[in-house]
Amino acid sequence: MAVDATLPYDDQNIFAKILRGEIPNRTVYEDDYALAFHDINPQAPIHVLVIPKGAYVCWDDFSEKASEAEIAGFVRAVGKVARDLGLVAPGYRLLANTGTNSHQEVPHLHVHLFAGQPLGPMLVR
Ligand code: AMP
Repeated sequence: MAVDATLPYDDQNIFAKILRGEIPNRTVYEDDYALAFHDINPQAPIHVLVIPKGAYVCWDDFSEKASEAEIAGFVRAVGKVARDLGLVAPGYRLLANTGTNSHQEVPHLHVHLFAGQPLGPMLVR
């Protein structure tokens, strides 16, 4: 069921539980602002999710309400994860589904990082 991006934050969502350590994850990177972990159902040879530590439903919520430090910290973390994984030269793709038409499933902002092979066209037509 796709997320309604206008709803308030639900602290029972699965990524909130991961941040609280209530369910396991395969962590790639963590700092004060972000956690990066392997997607449980990878769509590419490398498929990592990067999430902010703050309680934000989606990109809209985050870009409107997060502090400058949270935004800078999160964006830098996404870049660092890709760099640390050696993905700058081969290339990678970032994706942040937001709301119903994008089929966002988890109502905590996450950026998908896809890599490891040529990724094909941007959208299925
Ligand atoms: P989205 O459709 O953009 O909301 O993507 C949600 C992503 O979260 C999907 O790629 C799922 O495979 C992934 N996912 C769901 N539960 C978990 C979990 N427990 N650990 C890691 N990834 C998960």
